[in-house]
Amino acid sequence: MPRARAFQAAGPTRPLAFVEREVPEPGPGQVRVRIEACGVCHSDYLTVEGHWPGISYPRVPGHEIAGTIDALGREVPGWAAGDRVGIGWHGGHCGYCDSCRRGDFVTCRVAPQIPGISYDGGYSDFLIAPSAALARIPDALSAVEAAPLLCAGITTFNSLRNSSARPGDLVAVLGVGGLGHLGVQFAAQMGFETVAIARGKDKEALSRELGAHHAIDSDSQDPAAELTRLGGAKVILATVTSGQAMTAVIGGLGVDGKLLIVGAPEDPLQVDRRLAVRQVDRIRGHDEVRRAHRRPFQKRGLSAGAGPSRLRPHDERQGAVPRRPDDRRLQVRKQMNLVIPSPSSLSS
Ligand SMILES: [Zn+2]
Ligand SMILES: [Zn+2]
Repeated sequence: MPRARAFQAAGPTRPLAFVEREVPEPGPGQVRVRIEACGVCHSDYLTVEGHWPGISYPRVPGHEIAGTIDALGREVPGWAAGDRVGIGWHGGHCGYCDSCRRGDFVTCRVAPQIPGISYDGGYSDFLIAPSAALARIPDALSAVEAAPLLCAGITTFNSLRNSSARPGDLVAVLGVGGLGHLGVQFAAQMGFETVAIARGKDKEALSRELGAHHAIDSDSQDPAAELTRLGGAKVILATVTSGQAMTAVIGGLGVDGKLLIVGAPEDPLQVDRRLAVRQVDRIRGHDEVRRAHRRPFQKRGLSAGAGPSRLRPHDERQGAVPRRPDDRRLQVRKQMNLVIPSPSSLSS
């Protein structure tokens, strides 16, 4: 009998433990996915630390999943064994609540599901998931390249795609980490005048390599003043988890500028009353930008302009990204970073 390997959290604040267990069977409406890669997202700590209400333990974390359909339960139209699929934060929905009737599945009010929280996720050889959670992965994109796009990629891509910024507008990305390094690349390739804001000088070279036209060191410079000097940002994409860092950039918004918060702030965000009245049109949050992400690899989605076959792990020169579950303890977000080459380098 084949066995499935997994890293699971036995309970809140308990360390991840390696286990072997029987390969699970899909039920009606479900598929079994043989996992080839899973990104490590900051939000995985919600499972490991027990910070999400109602988690049933033991639980396998992981919601940046790429693999191949291995088996299908009954009533799974449109999919076949061997199809390459990905699963991100949206892991299923009820289909009949008001949100679902609007096609806004990620805000489902009745039965929202998240892999790694609602059911076992991607730190494993296999996963059982509802077919409604699947996104097709194009052949040109490897599993390692696709996995981080299922959460970090779609979060930054959709937030910029659905923002009010247009090519030529000044767009700042606060934080150049797991989310931010993708945000900088998307922003630059969408034609925005792109500003990368990071603490310290050491991220400047990487930011410019990723396509940023300007780099601001928030340790030695006032990011709000620098953005104002550049004309004021149409959009600031805040990928950090510090409310204080977000507060420090709000003054750099231009008229009708928007702060898009995709990192969950751990401390309060403060908005000066004058800024709130005169400059800040809206502050938008997390779920807002995660919407419509069931098909992240659709023709007009992530692959547009990005050249999916050209995506590569940023730190590939430091060694292959681990693919086996027993290697995953070595994985850090840094190893899943991606570089999207500029259009000129795609023609080669
Ligand atoms: Zn995530
Ligand atoms: Zn629903």
